[in-house]
Amino acid sequence: MCYAIPGKVVELNGRHAVIDYFGERRQAYTDLTRPSPGDYVYAQGGFVIQTVPAQEALAILADWQELFFRLQQTDQKLAQRKRTLHEQANAVRQQFQGNSCCVHGILEFSNYCRNNCLYCGIRKDNRKLQRYRMSEQEILQAVEYAVNQLGFRALVLQSGEDFWYSEAKLCRIVREIRARFSVLIFLSLGERPRATYHKLYEAGARGALIRFETSDAEQYKKIKPESTLADRLGLIKDLRDLGYLIISGFLMGLPDPTAGVAQSGPRGQNGRNVLADIKRTAESGAEMFSFGPFIPHPETPLAAARGPRLATVLNAIAQARLMYPTAKILVTTALETLDPAQGARAGLMAGANSLMINITPQKYRRLYEIYPNRAGVEDDTPKRIDKLLELLHALGRAPTDIGVS
Ligand code: SAM
Repeated sequence: MCYAIPGKVVELNGRHAVIDYFGERRQAYTDLTRPSPGDYVYAQGGFVIQTVPAQEALAILADWQELFFRLQQTDQKLAQRKRTLHEQANAVRQQFQGNSCCVHGILEFSNYCRNNCLYCGIRKDNRKLQRYRMSEQEILQAVEYAVNQLGFRALVLQSGEDFWYSEAKLCRIVREIRARFSVLIFLSLGERPRATYHKLYEAGARGALIRFETSDAEQYKKIKPESTLADRLGLIKDLRDLGYLIISGFLMGLPDPTAGVAQSGPRGQNGRNVLADIKRTAESGAEMFSFGPFIPHPETPLAAARGPRLATVLNAIAQARLMYPTAKILVTTALETLDPAQGARAGLMAGANSLMINITPQKYRRLYEIYPNRAGVEDDTPKRIDKLLELLHALGRAPTDIGVS
């Protein structure tokens, strides 16, 4: 997961391969893996990540073909209703993005952070939190399990801003993962020098998950005192220029810390600036939008604030879909936390088409407490995958980034 479907390379155009999937053609970069015409390959996020022996590919395609078109029919049927905002957004998602649903794994390898973001449970000043760092060996073992046992083909490596992982150490980890596993690597490390991200790209990372949190520079200064919105947006632009696929977005419902914690205040988020934040996400060049609700953590200065309701988050997803029909829009774990039973389903039916599954080893997962009671923290990962596949099949979605529209 993303379960890539193998496709056949029908043409090579400079750095691109043209790949055929059940008659539909897509382009993918070939700088990670160089296929020849006629090869079967897995592509992920627009990159060819692996060539597959023809016999194996044909067997997988035979299995998929029937299921793929059955799922497509279910999706089309469910997307016919267009009365409510969510139904309209779902119809647009179906029309422009087909039934594909990216499912990335996320590995949270350290909960140390040098920052003191007012909203975040792993902020430096939370002395009550037990801290952990995964060793290089542990990271590689977790990736091995996720790729070889669970079938993930795109993984996000996330941590607090933890400079114990030096540039050299991070490059070694990325290089080692790329050498051993066919997987697309996204980094979510926070702010590092552009030169470091350049080296990490050369080591084989191709994606970056980095939110700008709020597009209001004044509010940003208050809630994220160690950095500025301009620096954060500048870094996102640099990452895009370096060639990274960007996942970005914001924190919905962040309060104004100076206006009384339970209110949004003049620098808190409201309907108008949700739209500004959605626009800013698109302007950042993000290929995947990630915006989730702020959930207060008891050991932060915003402990007494209130986060947004599920309906508010779902409406924002629907608005984002109507504004940007071709975006990938994530159902965040925070959204699922607001309603562990129905949150994912509701998000997918309001215009979203991507998800992440936590693959952090159990003993560390509960310590990555950016907010309390995160959905999925106690779940056994294979069971969580089964449950998610059940949901995707019921909704007619194919857990791959190749959709048929
Ligand atoms: N250090 C990296 C960075 O700065 O991007 C990644 C780790 S950071 C903990 C990942 C994301 O967690 C942040 O971008 C933020 O939006 C989200 N987050 C932190 N505290 C949260 C809270 N209380 N509720 C919801 N999301 C939160």
